[in-house]
Amino acid sequence: MSNESLANLLKEERRFAPSSELAAQANVTAEAYERAEADRLGFWAEQARRLTWSTEPTETLDWSNPPFAKWFADGRLNVAYNCVDRHVENGLGDRVALHFEGEPGDSRSLTYAELQREVCKAANALTELGVRAGDRVAVYMPMIPETVVAMLACARIGAPHSVVFGGFSADALATRIQDADARVVITADGGYRRGEPGALKPAVDEALTRPGTENVRHVLVVRRTGQETGWTEGRDIWWHELVERQSDRHTPEAFEAEHPLFILYTSGTTGKPKGILHTSGGYLTQVAYTHHAVFDLKPESDVYWCTADVGWVTGHSYIVYGPLANGATQVLYEGTPNTPHQGRWWEIVQKYGVTILYTAPTAIRACMKWGDDIPAKYDLSSLRILGSVGEPINPEAWVWYRKHIGGDRVPVVDTWWQTETGAMMISPLPGVTETKPGSAQVPLPGIRATVVDDDANEVPHGSGGYLVLTEPWPSMLRTIWGDDQRYRDTYWSRFEGKYFAGDGAKKDEDGDIWLLGRVDDVMLVSGHNISTTEVESALVSHPKVAEAAVVGATDAQTTQAICAFVILRGTATEGEDLTEELRAHVARTLGPIAKPRRILAVAELPKTRSGKIMRRLLRDVAENRTLGDVTTLTDSSVMDLIQSRLPAASSED
Ligand code: ATP
Ligand code: MG
Repeated sequence: MSNESLANLLKEERRFAPSSELAAQANVTAEAYERAEADRLGFWAEQARRLTWSTEPTETLDWSNPPFAKWFADGRLNVAYNCVDRHVENGLGDRVALHFEGEPGDSRSLTYAELQREVCKAANALTELGVRAGDRVAVYMPMIPETVVAMLACARIGAPHSVVFGGFSADALATRIQDADARVVITADGGYRRGEPGALKPAVDEALTRPGTENVRHVLVVRRTGQETGWTEGRDIWWHELVERQSDRHTPEAFEAEHPLFILYTSGTTGKPKGILHTSGGYLTQVAYTHHAVFDLKPESDVYWCTADVGWVTGHSYIVYGPLANGATQVLYEGTPNTPHQGRWWEIVQKYGVTILYTAPTAIRACMKWGDDIPAKYDLSSLRILGSVGEPINPEAWVWYRKHIGGDRVPVVDTWWQTETGAMMISPLPGVTETKPGSAQVPLPGIRATVVDDDANEVPHGSGGYLVLTEPWPSMLRTIWGDDQRYRDTYWSRFEGKYFAGDGAKKDEDGDIWLLGRVDDVMLVSGHNISTTEVESALVSHPKVAEAAVVGATDAQTTQAICAFVILRGTATEGEDLTEELRAHVARTLGPIAKPRRILAVAELPKTRSGKIMRRLLRDVAENRTLGDVTTLTDSSVMDLIQSRLPAASSED
């Protein structure tokens, strides 16, 4: 961004107050903010007591060597024990932990007692394979219960896992295995997606032919699809042969609070993925607290469902560690939302009586595109909290979500956080906050965040700039795996003593925070910094547009020219009239400065596997460059399609 702060163009006036019913019995009330404000470290020390420690910590934060934090450093605990065993010991062994729903329609439920036996067997199996505390284990799996079991088994024996999204290529898997120097890979023959069994094992076999993967001694393979699978004798072992014959008892060892729990590579919207390191005690404290507070979880009655894949951070923090630490009952779904039909998700909500749903804006926009009549066919009355994460949610999608999924009564919480933050950082609280569609609103209790200008000064209300975190937090990343210097440079060098998130944001007149997309994506048009998010929101608020991605392309006259890529709704067709109509609509909504120079209708947008739009690739296209790193893209043919359409678009200028 240049020296001028981010323009504040979008005005959104809709407000939704919490219902008195929800406010009256909410887990967390406004008092939590005051308590955390008065004594932040005391507040987190109190939250750490949600966990069961074998040695209670007496220290809270050690920040003597910034930016390398230690939280609860003299405490010891076992993460898997906290997520499983202690619930069984508390008499909750019969409570369902996971309702698994396979894409083909198979389903099974695992109680906490069953989960405990499975995790113990898997921990014994890994030990038999020679995995020791500190060894890294790569996990390359579909969304099945064994994936959760595998992660917990690693945590139980202190072997940090590195989960690699099951849709990634052999190349992407190989670089992650190399970077983490993994010793064992846990995978499956395949998983079901879009109505088909998709193989996983061949990518592992291929990855393990690459240099730098020689330290992988064993590949443990779950049988999910039953498809033909290549086999390397001595290296490959079936899960059902090794794990099933193990004892279902295993004594958990206590590890230091700062013992590494996992490495996870970021989704790669801005470039080469970074191996983010998370540790045990602080991470588990914050994921448990935020899951309790933001979703108002009542573990005895709620049925929680997070639709994320375990291969990205939302799956780690809000499928595995947060919900299980809290003893929640949850749904785990293997497949895509439109297999075999576009109502699949709503059918699942109805079947299990889901009360809390956590998903991403990209999925909400897809459902909007499919039509209101689809969710309307199902009974969604069990829902009481709706969450969003992953990208800024445009107000139209937020309001649609509340209305068509939440029956106009269910609060929506837009949660801002990152792989690096480990847990939610900025979000409304459903029983406290009057929500504003499109805003993540306020830092959670115990979190300090603000928006600053180029010189690190806090911007006044009503202005935009850079989002920063001004105090360390328990679930913060500890470093980039193997690269302390990159950790310092990426997050701690832009503003002295502050964590730079890489996102643009603004504060409204009340001081509430609105995320405006990546700083790298901010456009400079005739001396004004304009956020991609606001222009995209304006486009999507037009009834003919389902989805939009906006980038700034170099322009001799205006520095950058706004280029918009839009997906049209059902019946709308591209043409000069529509282009003019959309440009005029943006000008009316945000002002003439934000009017796109070019608008191109496309069938699909380039997205990461976690569903985020990759604007940097669209910028490459708009500026006629060769494409940057596409390894984390869902479907690279999308880019060919877009590129092939471009010459026609240029003539519109
Ligand atoms: P990379 O760091 O490799 O470019 P990434 O940042 O997309 O990848 P994640 O850690 O999965 O990887 O994503 C975090 C980012 O997602 C945030 O920095 C922010 O840009 C965006 N984000 C997440 N939740 C929200 C939200 N509620 N509102 C706005 N943006 C969000
Ligand atoms: Mg990032």
